[in-house]
Amino acid sequence: MKSSITNPTHLWGIDLGGTKIECAVLDKSNDLAVICRKRIPTEADKGYQHIISQIVKLVNLVIEEIDEQPAQIGFATPGVLDPATLTMKNCNTVCMNGQPMHEDLEKALGIPVKLANDANCFALAEALMGAGKNFPKAELVFGVIMGTGVGGGLVVHGKVISGHHGIGGEWGHNIIEEGGDSCYCGKAGCVEKVIAGPALEKYYQKISGDSLKLKEILERYLANTDEFATATIERLLEYYGRGISTLINVLDPDLIVIGGGVGNIDLLYTEGYERIKKYIFNNKKISTPIVKPILGDSAGVFGAALL
Ligand SMILES: [Zn+2]
Repeated sequence: MKSSITNPTHLWGIDLGGTKIECAVLDKSNDLAVICRKRIPTEADKGYQHIISQIVKLVNLVIEEIDEQPAQIGFATPGVLDPATLTMKNCNTVCMNGQPMHEDLEKALGIPVKLANDANCFALAEALMGAGKNFPKAELVFGVIMGTGVGGGLVVHGKVISGHHGIGGEWGHNIIEEGGDSCYCGKAGCVEKVIAGPALEKYYQKISGDSLKLKEILERYLANTDEFATATIERLLEYYGRGISTLINVLDPDLIVIGGGVGNIDLLYTEGYERIKKYIFNNKKISTPIVKPILGDSAGVFGAALL
């Protein structure tokens, strides 16, 4: 028989991804130690209702495994819950858009839930459990995701700032290139359409006629054997400098953590750092620590639990 016990020091989080749904339970009374982790496929192609039933299935699996009930669950979601309409928006798993997901999850699970954008959860987890631990004085931490898309999240004094419209930290959809490629958000030339992995690969293909993965483009840049690879990585560094300098000029964070596949490129922390200096409103000087994340794949689900 299933336990009906809840443990108030156990924090439940779910990372709702496009391909997998992952649940983690952390122990607040034991330095946020992981009690349980489990993942199942999202099967998003089967539609919104199926995603909800996959979530219920996963929660039941975890209840069975640790023999306790959640008191509440935090969710890291693609996109955000619009604070005005209480429906989802900006999700790249598009079947979630327009759905009253907060209400549907509370109904399906029978407990309170909290929803936050996955980039916000990444920022929160890295601020409290990851890279932020090396910078204990950092009051304002900005988490950047540069991968297949570009997003971000702002954490101030350990709390996510989701903002008036729920779009706090969404620097990936600022227009950075006049006349640039059109974006799913309805605009063109967004940061995401310039420096996300697919955008860089597309740019390389456009100028060279060849199709290469970003990893190979980077290798050719480093070996200095391919002028098109050089142009592509130059483009990344230059627009990275402009994009991040905008963040610093507006928020001046104490720490920036850069996650995602593109964020893993070492050059961003050397030559990329120099490019930021070109555009910053501080006599070309910066001392902002810009670092890689520590939690890897786990940041989303841990951040969800910390909500
Ligand atoms: Zn956009």
